[in-house]
Amino acid sequence: MKLGILGSTGSVGTQTLEVYEKFKDEIELIGILANRASEKLFSQAIKYKPKFVVSYEEPTKEWLESLPKECKYLKGDEGLKAIIEESERLMNAVSGIYGIKPAYEVLKSGKVLLASNKESIICLGELIREHRDKVIPVDSEHNALFQLLNAIERKELKYVYLTASGGPFKDKSLEELKNVSVEEALKHPRWNMGAKITVDSATLMNKGFEMLEASYLFDLPLELIKVVIHPQSVVHGIVELIDNSFLMHTSQTDMKIPILYALFYPERKDYPFKKVSLLELSPITFEKVDTNKFKALDLAKWAGFMGGVYIPVLVGADEEAVKLFLEEKISFLDIADLIEEALSEVNIKDPENVEEILEAVEWGRQKVREIYEKKLAGKR
Ligand code: MG
Repeated sequence: MKLGILGSTGSVGTQTLEVYEKFKDEIELIGILANRASEKLFSQAIKYKPKFVVSYEEPTKEWLESLPKECKYLKGDEGLKAIIEESERLMNAVSGIYGIKPAYEVLKSGKVLLASNKESIICLGELIREHRDKVIPVDSEHNALFQLLNAIERKELKYVYLTASGGPFKDKSLEELKNVSVEEALKHPRWNMGAKITVDSATLMNKGFEMLEASYLFDLPLELIKVVIHPQSVVHGIVELIDNSFLMHTSQTDMKIPILYALFYPERKDYPFKKVSLLELSPITFEKVDTNKFKALDLAKWAGFMGGVYIPVLVGADEEAVKLFLEEKISFLDIADLIEEALSEVNIKDPENVEEILEAVEWGRQKVREIYEKKLAGKR
């Protein structure tokens, strides 16, 4: 199988390369792509020798000279297109809103999208729905639901459940949430991920995005999708059937399992890394979500019901609000408040193509900036 990895330097990208290394005989690595021309990207190129190495940023001369002779460097969209053209499956592990365009290009090409970036899944929702047979979800929850839903008949289904660890602030009161720091928000109890998605997990916006993601990936109405807190993060998806039985997918908290599944689907491979026993997965507990504390979840659901332009605006607003929080310019609870305000001011039309989707994302970002700056000016 010919594989391209978009977003190779992030957490999922790096782990995809680790899986690739174990299956070198069966996978040909066509290309790796990252937004930034970092030392990490070039050291990956030296180690894994893909055919193409792509960045959107200009690399230094030293980095270019360090490339093995098997690797060809290409910049930006030209490189993206070259990787897509020669690959059969494309892992889209680009972080945040920068994953939208690559996902679009992959879907348009008719190649198989291994979808890890959730912003692209929800912003390109309709396109994802149309190309469902070419999309394999990598996000642990959706990968689990994909397997569960493939094992049942649609008419047997009552609800699907997304499990949420609850993030680092699960047990904090609303009052305590007012003063949590960036450092505390970045301490995810279970998963080790990039900063943007870790903050999204702390606000539960990540789970909100995942509800929308599930709705598009599996063509499910939002009313059938529930969220349950499961602090151990070992049950990744649950389906409730009409006879009141629940099928669950459980495995250790390890992204390499869904990555391996997506790379070889429909074939299942022997896991080549450290395995854990069933006993190590216990205990397994579930709790109710407190949406008063985590209103991001309701905001996402609301945007999902509104549909159209509201989803890219939600995504853009979240991107900017999380950025402001990471820069310590706003408080943790301000994140959801700013997004809510931006959503309430939407006055642009529904996007009809990918350019307009990206414009709506940008509108959401700008709107959050604008509201933040207005508030700052008011305080002076
Ligand atoms: Mg997830």
